[in-house]
This record gives sequence, structure tokens and C-alpha cells, in this order.
Amino acid sequence: MDIDAAELQSFLTDLDADIRARADWGEVADYIPELAKVAPAQFGVAVALADGQVLQAGAADTRFSIQSVSKVFTLACVLGRSGEQIWTRVGREPSGTRFDSILLLEQEKGRPRNPFINAGALVTTDALLAGRAPREALSEVLAFLRLAAGDEDIHIDRAVALSEERTGFRNIALANYLKSFNNMTNPPEMTLGTYFHQCAIEMTATQLARAGRMIAQLPRAPAILAPEKARRLNALMMTCGHYDGSGDFAFRVGLPGKSGVGGGILVIAPGVASIAVWSPGLNLYGNSHMGTFAAEQIARFTGWSVFG
Ligand code: GLU
Repeated sequence: MDIDAAELQSFLTDLDADIRARADWGEVADYIPELAKVAPAQFGVAVALADGQVLQAGAADTRFSIQSVSKVFTLACVLGRSGEQIWTRVGREPSGTRFDSILLLEQEKGRPRNPFINAGALVTTDALLAGRAPREALSEVLAFLRLAAGDEDIHIDRAVALSEERTGFRNIALANYLKSFNNMTNPPEMTLGTYFHQCAIEMTATQLARAGRMIAQLPRAPAILAPEKARRLNALMMTCGHYDGSGDFAFRVGLPGKSGVGGGILVIAPGVASIAVWSPGLNLYGNSHMGTFAAEQIARFTGWSVFG
């Protein structure tokens, strides 16, 4: 749907002011000590449009920990490297469980429901390693993101990675449990270290919106993701991108999205725009509280819901 960029810009500016005037920011993720230090009352948004413009409001140039938003990009890398093989190890169904749940893993014999819950993302990261050193695998993800965003200034925040490495006992349990089902080819600590570093990539909303252009298949986006892969990533983001809050996000926003516990959400309007919102306070599903609100308001204003 065509949208007047100037009108959308003024809408985003007003939305930022409206959000700043509110008091209900949600709670920051405190199970990763380094993320517990982030002030919740922050908001930023960036919208990359098909004509190449990137609209911004609020703290669009503040870096934040992308956390699980990274899972979309590692999956894209794995699909590029080894194609469809990954689906023998991980499913494509919404889980209806928390992001770090171990519940279904026993029942489903170590094949996680989808690549966006932690268990599934650990399998994807394990596949990304494919016999390589963690440094090489992480370099591939960073290079892919930098190319997608057209920006070299994207890095890993080592303090966040180490903070999670010290306290990520649930992920450690998941990786070992996957190993017991032979669904982890590398030593669990190697895959975990790579996963924690991938989650600790820092980006601004502007960089994330630009990186998402290839998933939206915008005409000026770098041609580094085949249309069929983009379609599939969008389907997974719509059905599984917000854990047990995926149905609620689809209901309220109507667009594929992937959240992270750092408070970022990448939202895709296929063929039209790539949107990144960031606000570190989370709702009860572990998704950005104000970020979800903002995505809902933007979808309503623009009429970009894929459901018409
Ligand atoms: N690194 C986080 C974890 O594994 C990512 C979770 C998220 O962003 O939802 O717990």
C-alpha cells in the first residue's frame, strides 16, 4: 500500500512523544545481568521504505542487544549454506511455550518445534558451525548483517555475551538435552558460546530496519536472500516470531515479526517496508511491551497488515 513518507514521519514523531509520556514500560530482562542494567524507559523506531528512505523517531540510533532477532539472520545463513537439510533437525510449528522451554523437547524426541525458540535456535547455530571454529561462524553472521544493513559498524557486545555465558543455565540444559538426542553435532559448550555471542550482537533500530529490507524483498535491498527464502522466513516470523505471544502479535499487528529480550522487534511488511522498534521493557511473553504497542499503531496507521 502506498504511503506518504512525510505523513508517516509525522506520525512516528507523534508516536514517540506519546510513548514517552507513558509510564508503563514493562520490565527489562534481568536473567541476563548485563541486560538488567538497561533503563526501561527508552524507545526508538526506524522504517525503511521501498524507495530507499529510512524514517526515524526517538532513539533510532541507540545500540541495543538484538538477542533473539539474530535467530532470523543465522537461519538465513544456514539456509544459504546447507539449504533444506536443517528441517530434518528442527520443525516449523509454533510452540505455544516460553522462549526457553524444555517441555516439548522430550515428547518430540529432541527435535525442537521451530528455529526461533531457544532449543531450535541452538540447533540452527550448531548447523551454522558445521565443523568451523565459532569465530568463523560468527564472522559469517556479522558479514551477512553488515551487507544487509549496508553498514560495517555492527559488532558483538562481549560483556553481554559473557554475562549470558555465566548465567545461561537453561540454555546449557537445553543444549545438553539436545546432545542426548544426537541433535547437536558440536560439543554443547561450543554451540552455546557461539549462540550467546550471536545473541549479543548490538545494532540500532536504523541498522536493523535496513538489514530487514532483504526479508521484505524491497527493490533497493542488497540481493543476498532468494525470494523463496524470504517468503519462508516471513512465514516463520508470523507463526513463531514471538514465542507463546505469536498469536497475539499476529492479532494486534498482522505482520511477520521477530522479537528479542533486548527489547528489539524486527517487523516486515512484505514488499513494502522493514520496521525496527526498540524499547527494553518487556511484556509477560518476554517481548517488548512498548515496541509491540508501537508496531500495532504503525500497522493501523499504514494499513500494512498482511490480512488487509
Ligand atoms: N539470549 C537469549 C536467551 O537465550 C535470547 C532470548 C530472546 O531474545 O528471546 O535466553
